[in-house]
Amino acid sequence: MLKLEYRPFGILNSESDSDFFFVCDHATNFVPRTMLGLGVGKSDLFSHIAYDIGALPVAIALALKFEASLIWQNYSRLMIDCNRQLNHEGLIPEVSDHITIDGNHSLSEQSRNDRIKLIFRPYHLEIEKRLNEREERCGQTFFVSVHSFTPTMNGIRRPWKIGVLSGGNEKFSLIVLELLRSRYDFCVGFNEPYRVDSKDFTIPEHATKRSLPSVLIEIRQDLIATEKSQKFWIETIATVLRNAREDYLAESRN
Ligand SMILES: [Zn+2]
Repeated sequence: MLKLEYRPFGILNSESDSDFFFVCDHATNFVPRTMLGLGVGKSDLFSHIAYDIGALPVAIALALKFEASLIWQNYSRLMIDCNRQLNHEGLIPEVSDHITIDGNHSLSEQSRNDRIKLIFRPYHLEIEKRLNEREERCGQTFFVSVHSFTPTMNGIRRPWKIGVLSGGNEKFSLIVLELLRSRYDFCVGFNEPYRVDSKDFTIPEHATKRSLPSVLIEIRQDLIATEKSQKFWIETIATVLRNAREDYLAESRN
């Protein structure tokens, strides 16, 4: 039986009334000690295959700015990727960016179910519970999922500094995109470097089903690798989210 050293998720401002609600699926690179790093080398365990570098500190800073709720996953995506559908092959990856994850090969049904039961489910149940509570308590919820992406993938350098990915309710993400593109001269991707589709879990499950205005923000990892460099992106994203919320609410009133 899998034994966890920490609870599977972290939560900040759990009962906040802020309109914003943040989640961070790939927040940490933690693997339980008994799993011996899943047989992955130390440098790979500190690379983008294990977690979204810089995403958690940015998400925490945003949640603190808005005094908003943030829920994050406390275990590495190599243990289980909490943004994958349960039947998707990437849920417990055997290979990631050409690195073999030995500890995920020939996994027994029991081990697979343990990871779903002890890591995946509690995280998503907590998000669901908090969103249910908000339906009674709060007027509006803007669902914001914070991720980061590696600057180079399969040998190709990615041009975007930030990517705006839309979920089911596109309107809010399109306002975020428009504000970023009109006010800043850095390269902003739309549904790049990834898109929310049938492999994804978090936005479809929590935001799309509830028709919440939502956005998934991807920030290039080399830009938010240090506390100092994170400051610009925290300020920029906070300003854009604040204005996008105002624009969205104003448009909804018309
Ligand atoms: Zn991610």
